[in-house]
Amino acid sequence: MKKFIKIALSIIVIAALAIFAGVQYLLSQPAPEGFPILEYHMVQEQNPDKAYEYNVPPADFEAQLDYLQQEGYTTISIRDYLRAKKGLQELPEKPVILTFDDGYESNYTELLPILERRGLKATIFMVGNDIGKENYMSWDQLKDIQHRGVEIGSHTANHLPLTEMDLNTARDEVKLSKLLMEWNGVNTIYTLSYPNGKYTKDLLEILKEEEYLAAVTGDPGLNTFETNPYLLQRINIPHPMFGLTEFKWRLIKGRIFTQLGIYQHKS
Ligand SMILES: [Zn+2]
Repeated sequence: MKKFIKIALSIIVIAALAIFAGVQYLLSQPAPEGFPILEYHMVQEQNPDKAYEYNVPPADFEAQLDYLQQEGYTTISIRDYLRAKKGLQELPEKPVILTFDDGYESNYTELLPILERRGLKATIFMVGNDIGKENYMSWDQLKDIQHRGVEIGSHTANHLPLTEMDLNTARDEVKLSKLLMEWNGVNTIYTLSYPNGKYTKDLLEILKEEEYLAAVTGDPGLNTFETNPYLLQRINIPHPMFGLTEFKWRLIKGRIFTQLGIYQHKS
């Protein structure tokens, strides 16, 4: 038994060293092209639904924004990216897109003041049928936040995984959330965030037919003008366990996934 433990430990140590050496090697190579899209859910001290999973406390969030600023990043919207891709505008040297899924009320009460104080852009993906429910933004808050410069997208009507339903139901989910918001006075919805980040090829066609221009996944990596606009990659930023170091590692993870060519979808 002791021998077995020794062998197992040796294997673990060798594997860890190999991964470490691999990461060191990749980081010594020129940085790959592309910019990050960050996936947040809520900026608030406590998470009312689940214990510490998706909430980033405001102090951590501000530290992350300070770091991005130090590193020379400038926030853009998905619209900026799509327009630049068509040659209609220039992008800053180091763009970053801040996205927020689900449409929590704290996006209005906690996040918006931080964005406005710092002059930052962001994109929020709303679940159509959750608008106005407890802990979610109300219609008035939603229209106001859009009016104040935050980009609004759809996160479907009911936040059900689109990959686990028939295509007609999936079409309704993306179509109805867009229509519901537009009928209620929200400006045109042209971007989607796939619930749970999951998608299929058929869904891309449906999104095109339903007049969406872009969609974000949960696949980590960086984005360029060659990235399929319906498969934009995102780096998930949950509640940090290891402060700013974890945030830096998550950015590095996006870079490494791109260098290794994992989840690269060209259009
Ligand atoms: Zn979600």
